[in-house]
Amino acid sequence: MHRHVAWQRDDWQWKTARQLAQTYDVLWIEDLNLDGMKRLWGRKVSDLAFHSFTQKLDYLMRANGKVLYKRDRFFASSKTHFACGYVNDELTLADREWVCPQCGETVQRDINAARMIKHGRARPWSKDHL
Ligand SMILES: [Zn+2]
Repeated sequence: MHRHVAWQRDDWQWKTARQLAQTYDVLWIEDLNLDGMKRLWGRKVSDLAFHSFTQKLDYLMRANGKVLYKRDRFFASSKTHFACGYVNDELTLADREWVCPQCGETVQRDINAARMIKHGRARPWSKDHL
C-alpha cells in the first residue's frame, strides 16, 4: 500500500512539473520553512514531498531551456505587504488574511507572497539551497 501511494505521488509530481515546465518560461518558488509548517500542520506536510517535487521541477525546467528561481526562506514574502511595503511582524502561519495597518488594504497571504516572490530579487535555483 505504501509503495502504491509513493508511486502515485511520484507520478503526479512528474506530470505536474512537466505541465509547469511546458507552460511557463520562468518560475519562482519559495524555500519554505518545512519544520515550522510540520509543527503547525503535522505529518501531512512531509507527505507532500516538496523537496522531491522541487528537484523534478528544476530538472524539467532546465531540460526545456527554462529557468526556476528560488527565494530563500528568510525573505519576508508573507509579512511584507506587496502594495505598500509594510512589514507585519505579528503575522503567524495560521493567519491567511490580514488588514494592513499602513494602507488599510485586506491582504490575502498567499497572493501577496506570490507577488513578493515574483517581483522581488530572486536567484537561480540550485541544489545547494536545499
Ligand atoms: Zn499596505
